[in-house]
Amino acid sequence: MKLKDKVALITGGNKGIGLAIAHRYAKEGATSIILARDKAASTKAVEEIRAAGGKAHFIPCDLTQFASLPGVVEEAVKIAGSVDILVNNAGVVDLRPLELVTPDNWDFIFDTNVKGLFFMLQAAAAQMIKQGNGGKIVNISSQAGRRGEGLVLVYGAAKAAVIHMNQTAALELIRHRINVNGIAPGVIDTPMWDDVDAQFCKFKGLPPGSARKAAEAGVPHGRFGVPEDLAGAAVFLASDDAEYIVAQTLNVDGGNWMS
Ligand code: NDP
Repeated sequence: MKLKDKVALITGGNKGIGLAIAHRYAKEGATSIILARDKAASTKAVEEIRAAGGKAHFIPCDLTQFASLPGVVEEAVKIAGSVDILVNNAGVVDLRPLELVTPDNWDFIFDTNVKGLFFMLQAAAAQMIKQGNGGKIVNISSQAGRRGEGLVLVYGAAKAAVIHMNQTAALELIRHRINVNGIAPGVIDTPMWDDVDAQFCKFKGLPPGSARKAAEAGVPHGRFGVPEDLAGAAVFLASDDAEYIVAQTLNVDGGNWMS
């Protein structure tokens, strides 16, 4: 077991990639604490993890309520005793041509994917520093943060900001033995991709499902990713095996992008 007795906060741990990570972390001996808004999906996830013999809890959390995030970390410490790992996974998407981007649309993406992610990192790091035992932080970016793409301006800019934070936060926190790294997924079959397909197809005038097919055809590995494809990298970056890995963003994308 690579994460035995560790306590892991996983934002958005009730669906898609976060859910796969919550399951795998529990299998690796960690207590998975799911931070999300949807109570029904989160309760179901906790029940499934416990039924499989793992340890899990749910703490209601809206990342856009920035001032509440230190309290969420405090609650996790009350429940599980410490915070050793943070996976900043939660994210939202909204694709549109640049002429249709509004300040509200910009804030919708940046409030969750950048500002919420940062203040969650800040709150978790403060707790890890207080504990004095180091820690591991894994921020989920995207291949969209690596290069420009039509319709993806705001989401891509937000994910590029996450790659930058992986570097800067890492350089500030490694002196506390807190490793900050990230993962840039490619195209992964989750509820988010249903929205991505619908939005691409709407603006490109294509039949539903065709954006997904085109994306899949471009993956060198030959298939769409599934959430479980991310779990191994998330375990590795949160484990002692990653002790000397600092400020990196690892592509897990079937070969879509090389950096
Ligand atoms: P999903 O849409 O399947 O899940 C998103 C998760 O984020 C949900 O658990 C949701 O929970 C949570 N969430 C959203 N907003 C908030 C908020 N304000 N506060 C707390 N939790 C929130 O997404 P994926 O699993 O596909 O994506 C996970 C991460 O991976 C995201 O950061 C995404 O940008 C990134 N990514 C995904 C790719 C893909 O192809 N799927 C590709 C590249 C990157 P709830 O609604 O209960 O709050």
